[in-house]
Amino acid sequence: MPAQPVIGVLALQGDVREHLVSLAECDVIARPVRRPEELAEVDGIVLPGGESTTMSRLLETFELLEPLRKRLADGLPAYGSCAGMILLAGTVVDGRPDQQQLAAVDMVVRRNAFGRQVDSFECELPVAGVDGGPVHAVFIRAPWVESVGEGVEVLARVPDIPANGAAAGRIVAVRQGSVLATAFHPELTGDERVHRLFVETVRAA
Ligand code: GLN
Repeated sequence: MPAQPVIGVLALQGDVREHLVSLAECDVIARPVRRPEELAEVDGIVLPGGESTTMSRLLETFELLEPLRKRLADGLPAYGSCAGMILLAGTVVDGRPDQQQLAAVDMVVRRNAFGRQVDSFECELPVAGVDGGPVHAVFIRAPWVESVGEGVEVLARVPDIPANGAAAGRIVAVRQGSVLATAFHPELTGDERVHRLFVETVRAA
């Protein structure tokens, strides 16, 4: 791997720019990915937050779904935030019946788990592998992880205190091999530590 790995951000929909900005702080070459040829050139891929059903549809339209599945199956490191987490999951509860799964993480996620009315939730979240104190986690119509398979590491749970309501204790960050997923959006808070954790994974792969 070159000194600066190339990390792509799937650029079909969602907060692509914010991920590119976060990655730019991490000593990597960050590029948008819209075409199979661009996907072929990256050492890692970020699936942004946005709308998983729309991204799923666009992955098919742009003929990226199968190439992405293939690269993930071959071990391409990936990081998904929010909608990206949903895409990476094996199983989605409350998804659309026609939405496609990349099935790179053996987990069941519940879409829009934090509620449709209450659009957003924030908390201070300790994340395993992220040093320097908790991450300020912002959840926007976010999923949570209902259950994980054996090979999946749980990196964060919403602190289990009454103030966190139904979200208390829920799994919101996971890793399986070189695939990382968070229900929250570190790309929105100017804290690059989760992106750095992903970049370390890419370098180690
Ligand atoms: N609710 C969205 C979905 O189902 C995810 C929201 C987000 O990425 N902020 O894809």
